[in-house]
Amino acid sequence: MSPKASQAAAPTASRAPTARRALVVGGSLGGLFAGALLKQAGWTVDIYERSSHGLDSRGGGIVLQPDVVEAFRQAGAEVETMDLGVRSRERKVFRRDGSLQDRQVAPQTQTSWSLIYTTMKRAFGEAHYRQGKTLVGLRQDEAGKTVTARFEDGTEETGDLLVGADGNGSTVRRLLWPEAEPAYAGYLAWRGLVPEDEMPPAARDGLHGDFGFANTKGSHILGYLVPGENNDTRSGHRLYNWVWYRVADDAALRDIMTDREGRYRGFSLPEGRLADRWRDHVHREAGELLPPAFREVVRATREPFAQAIRDLAVERMVRGRVILLGDAAFIPRPHTAASTAKAAANALTLADALRRCPDDIDEALERWEPRQLALGQRLRDQGRRSGDHLLFNR
Ligand SMILES: Cc1cc2nc3c(=O)[nH]c(=O)nc-3n(C[C@H](O)[C@H](O)[C@H](O)COP(=O)(O)OP(=O)(O)OC[C@H]3O[C@@H](n4cnc5c(N)ncnc54)[C@H](O)[C@@H]3O)c2cc1C
Repeated sequence: MSPKASQAAAPTASRAPTARRALVVGGSLGGLFAGALLKQAGWTVDIYERSSHGLDSRGGGIVLQPDVVEAFRQAGAEVETMDLGVRSRERKVFRRDGSLQDRQVAPQTQTSWSLIYTTMKRAFGEAHYRQGKTLVGLRQDEAGKTVTARFEDGTEETGDLLVGADGNGSTVRRLLWPEAEPAYAGYLAWRGLVPEDEMPPAARDGLHGDFGFANTKGSHILGYLVPGENNDTRSGHRLYNWVWYRVADDAALRDIMTDREGRYRGFSLPEGRLADRWRDHVHREAGELLPPAFREVVRATREPFAQAIRDLAVERMVRGRVILLGDAAFIPRPHTAASTAKAAANALTLADALRRCPDDIDEALERWEPRQLALGQRLRDQGRRSGDHLLFNR
C-alpha cells in the first residue's frame, strides 16, 4: 500500500518566510525528510542527532513507496540519474513442503534504509547536520512563539519550531506526551541479509528476483533482494533481505534482546549482537518451520538480528511549536510497508503547509495535523489487523 497523503503537495510558489528557524531532533530518515524539505521551503534548519558517528549501517530492506520518491524529488536529490532500488517480478507464496500456494505478477521496487539515508543526507548537506547532540529538555516561551532545546552537553538552541523526529523511543514525546508509550505486540521480527552470490541453490531457485512469502501458525516470513554495499544495485552485488515474524512472550523477548555481551538492548538488536544460542535457535527453527528455500537462506545468514514489533499511536502531533513525526508519533507494524513512507508524507505535508501559511506557523500546524493523524491511525489499524491475523490467526 502507499499512503497518498502528500500526493497533492507539489511545492507552491510563495514568499519565503523570513528568518524562520527549525530545530529537528533526530537525524535518521524522518529527521532528514523534515530537514531537507523545510530547507527547500526557505527555513534555516539544523538537525541534531544523538549518535556521534554515521548511521548508515542501520536496518535492511524497505519497499520503495511513492512518497519517498516525492520527498527525494522535492529535496532536490538527483533521482533521475540514480538507481533507487531492485525490482522484483512476482509475489510467490510457498507451502511448508516448498510447493507454490500462490503466484502473482506484481512488479515493485525494494530499496534499503542505507540508500534512502545517504540520498537524503546528501540533499540536506553536512553543514547543519550536528552529530553527538542528544536532546534532554525543552521549553516554550510564554507567548508560544519560540522553543528552546537543551542538549546533554549543556548547550541550548532556540527556534520557531522544533520537530521531534527522534524515533520510537522519542525524548520529545516523553517530555511533552508522557502518556504515549509503545506497546509490545507479542511477536518479533528475526531479520537477516545474505550476499546475493552466497544464496544457497535452493534459495536462489525459489526466491531470487521475486517477493517470497511463507505462512504457518505463529510464523510468517518474507524476503526480497535489496541494494548491496554502497547502494550497489548491480546483479551479483545485492543482498537478499528476509524478515521472519515469530511469536515470543515477554520473557523470551527480554532474553533475545540481551546481547552476546549480556547487555539488554531494549527492542532492537543490531547485526552482530545476537547471542550464539539464539542464532542457533533461529537456524534450528528454520529447519522445523520453513519451506526449503527460506530454510536455506535463513541458515546461510551468519548474523541474524531482531526487532520487537510494537504499536504506538499518539492522539495529537502538535503541542504549541513542538511537533512529532515519523516513528516518534506512530509506529505502524511493518506489514504495512509504510513506516518510512509515512515519515516522508509527514514531512512533505509539513513543508507544504508552512509554505502556504508563510506568516502564521500556528495556522500551518493546525492545517497539517488532522490528516497526518488520520494517516497514522489508519496505518496502525491496518498493521494490527494484518499482524494479528498472520501471527495469531485472529
Ligand atoms: C535499528 C532500526 C532498523 C530499522 N530498519 C528498518 C527497515 O529495515 N525497514 C523499514 O521499513 N524500516 C526500518 N526501520 C524503521 C525506519 O527506519 C523508520 O520507520 C523511518 O526511518 C522513520 O523513522 P524515524 O526517522 O522517525 O526514526 P528512527 O529511524 O528511529 O530515528 C530516530 C533518530 O533519532 C535519534 N535520536 C533519538 N533520541 C534522540 C535524542 N534525544 N536527541 C537526538 N537524537 C535522538 C536516533 O539516534 C535516531 O537516529 C528501522 C528503524 C531502526 C531504529
